[in-house]
Amino acid sequence: MKERSSHDDSRFSTVADNIKHITENIENAKLKAGRTDTVRLMGVTKTVDPEIVSFSVANGVKLLGENRVQEFLDKRDRYEGDPEVHFIGGLQTNKVKYIIDKVSMIHSANSEHLIEEIDKRAGKAGLKMDILIEVNIGGEESKSGIAPEALDELAYKTAELGNVRLRGLMAIPPVDVDGSSDRYFAQMQKLFSDLRDKTRNDGRFLIDTLSMGMSGDYQSAIMHGSTIVRIGSVLYGYRNYT
Ligand SMILES: *Cc1c(COP(=O)(O)O)cnc(C)c1O
Repeated sequence: MKERSSHDDSRFSTVADNIKHITENIENAKLKAGRTDTVRLMGVTKTVDPEIVSFSVANGVKLLGENRVQEFLDKRDRYEGDPEVHFIGGLQTNKVKYIIDKVSMIHSANSEHLIEEIDKRAGKAGLKMDILIEVNIGGEESKSGIAPEALDELAYKTAELGNVRLRGLMAIPPVDVDGSSDRYFAQMQKLFSDLRDKTRNDGRFLIDTLSMGMSGDYQSAIMHGSTIVRIGSVLYGYRNYT
């Protein structure tokens, strides 16, 4: 390992403080919501130095979220501590083959076409890929994800495929004029629990994951049943998303 400069040291200690703070906030939100189940903290690593990522893993962030295929492929060899990695970003079908054996879940499954490609590549790699269907809960034209009305049909189509397993839903909701996303989180919670109830006795499904909540709103997402919060900036520091 390289020597760390004092500048680096402060970056590391800030991340350690952030992890402590976020973990406390997660526990408090769970308490407030009366929840005793597990909420996982995912570290979203885009643009973050792999040394910092490894430091966060050593300090309790056991799950990482990757947005960009090339950046992930460039960095992953330098991740230490054997983190679990999920893919959470926009995924082109022609890139699925590069990540299929390097992640354990894909949160951004947002079309039948993409899910079929994941199924095909998982089959070739001899594995079964866990996926979440991304829902465009705010009906925003600029965002990917399927319409809530189309969810059931896509979920049951997915169940027909042998090499993917649907685990739940993911969303990046808009923010209302009052600055909150509560209305959308509540809608996601309802979609999720309906899907879970409907498929409870169907062995092709294992619906247990609701991925929502980011730096600005993870506590309210937890109030609405989120099981994975995806945190970038308040964990690793603000940065440019270019
Ligand atoms: C960047 C990103 C996040 C984290 O966003 P922050 O606001 O920095 O916490 C979460 N989910 C996805 C899909 C992202 O691209």
